Amino acid sequence: MPHNAVKADVADLYRIGDWGAGYFGLSDDGNVTVSVDTPEGRVSVALLDMVFGMRERGLQMPVLLRIENLLDAQIARLNESFREAIRTLGYRGEYRGVFPIKVNQQRQVIEEITRFGACYKHGLEAGSKAELIIALSMLNNRDGMVVCNGYKDREFVELGLLAQKIGYHCVFVVESPSELPTVLACSKALGMRPRIGVRVKLSSRVGGMWTETSGDRSIFGLTTNQLVDVVDTLKARGMLDCLQLLHYHLGSQIPNVRDIRSGVLEACRYYADLVQEGAPMGFLDLGGGLAVDYDGSNANHPHSKNYSLHEYCADVVEAVMTTLDPVDVPHPVIITESGRATVAYASVLLFNVLDVTRFEPEEDEATPPGKDEHRLIHSLQEVYEAIAPDTLQECYNDALYYLDEIRDLFRRGQIRLRSQAIAEHLFLRIMHALTRVLALGGPVPTELERLPETIADIYYGNFSVFQSLPDAWAIDQLFPVTPIHRHAEPPTRQAIIADITCDSDGKLDRFIDAHQVKRTLPVHRLVDGEEYYFGVFLVGAYQETLGDLHNLMGDTNVVSVRINADGSFDFVKEMHGDSIADVLSYVEYDPRELRERFRDAAERAVRLGKITPSERQQVLEHFGASLRGYTYFER
Ligand code: PLP
Repeated sequence: MPHNAVKADVADLYRIGDWGAGYFGLSDDGNVTVSVDTPEGRVSVALLDMVFGMRERGLQMPVLLRIENLLDAQIARLNESFREAIRTLGYRGEYRGVFPIKVNQQRQVIEEITRFGACYKHGLEAGSKAELIIALSMLNNRDGMVVCNGYKDREFVELGLLAQKIGYHCVFVVESPSELPTVLACSKALGMRPRIGVRVKLSSRVGGMWTETSGDRSIFGLTTNQLVDVVDTLKARGMLDCLQLLHYHLGSQIPNVRDIRSGVLEACRYYADLVQEGAPMGFLDLGGGLAVDYDGSNANHPHSKNYSLHEYCADVVEAVMTTLDPVDVPHPVIITESGRATVAYASVLLFNVLDVTRFEPEEDEATPPGKDEHRLIHSLQEVYEAIAPDTLQECYNDALYYLDEIRDLFRRGQIRLRSQAIAEHLFLRIMHALTRVLALGGPVPTELERLPETIADIYYGNFSVFQSLPDAWAIDQLFPVTPIHRHAEPPTRQAIIADITCDSDGKLDRFIDAHQVKRTLPVHRLVDGEEYYFGVFLVGAYQETLGDLHNLMGDTNVVSVRINADGSFDFVKEMHGDSIADVLSYVEYDPRELRERFRDAAERAVRLGKITPSERQQVLEHFGASLRGYTYFER
């Protein structure tokens, strides 16, 4: 096949150009690349070269790769898109982004967001006391806002107020009626006037996976009645001038731009009326929701979005103007708390494949069963010989029936292990033959639609779904998955990917596709002695801290790279993942005590003459090395 044809096919299979947002692509020699703009032009680097760099530095797979340039690029795209919309539509206010810390609390991420975001006055959103402490210590530009959401006790509010005293722009968003008295009491005690925001429950509902976050029954936010109470309380205390911000959050990953627009329109009605009540206001905070196009289909469904960033910004700005201009309300500062869209692109989970299970009859065993085999095995052989385009359903039914019968005989001890093996092998031949005929085209009987999955390979990936891709397990989130190399050769196998936890849910068996979810992924045949690497992309949002220790697979190694203008790259930070001793201590084992206990067992063995003292030493050294080791499969 000519080279370009392979490349076009690969692009189609994995849709990299669609979900890659211009950051990820394919090189002519078949590598997945990451491309960034630099002052000297656009440069691309193969992910495989980064993997080689990790190998040279002794960093084992799996590795979470963070590409700092992509964090910067997303912050720039967001801010520049709003600036452009503001300029072209003649909006008389500005845009201020705040990054919600909960979406990725990792220090390196927050450090980069605050460093690069300073030129845009990008701030932080804190939803807990711990996050507020991160915000106050990491935010180095005083113009950036600190939006305090979440349940707030006195300690939370006092810390925010003291921060305000030393120059931080903190706003306390009242999320429930019980919070206002706390904010007022703390402010009084400290002799300060707080900056207050209110979070409202909008009646607008959104589609997608977080539809529960919106509407009357959403957990957070004030009802209209409660909002009126807040206004009245502030008026009664002569503190209505403290009410400066209106906030709502309709949910994450909103796929339909029309839902975003109707949210803004409704929120602006609240905003306008609060101004008319006498509150100074000034800030309109639309929360998160800006979606990531995980499958690259640019459509209104949960793993995608039907709008561009440009359209999102223009629609928001325009909707604010449409509502506020007729009632002569000055344009507010527009805030968004975009988390997912800011950080998703910057992280890629890289892992190697350890092994494969094939569900495939061996090529050289086409010989029919021997005369002495059970009649049901001969019946299976007849099914095999009867396969034709017009007998697919019938052959499928018969094959299942005969295999069940044979297994039943085996359970009752009426046929032997080797006969059952012949039957299962024959069954597999039938399934493959059916799949081959199906692939020729023509109508596919419904029951046979999922046949290709049942014979797909299982590739064992060196990672844990529960630790590194928790949303893939918990909420069926789709992430783009591709081999990161070998794309110059066509993939000849179909596979699902299992992780190395011993949990049947620890697998990736739903993959992105243009119009529906694909049940298998095209992959290359494993080559003896050669590593085969995969990347799971767009995993920078929510995955790191939601991950858990299932099977005691700990945090992976993390490497942050920065790509330079000359196409080289630096490993700017690296963090070794959890050792076995680390994860054991998380579940309250003391590694020193474990070593002691094992030492006692070894010493007893010496006493009983099972091992020599020097063997004891060897055993103990091995135990110690295991405790220091990585929790994943080490080559
Ligand atoms: N703001 C609030 C209040 C949230 O609850 C969330 C997350 O759901 C976000 C912002 C971030 O949303 P997203 O990641 O969709 O931008």
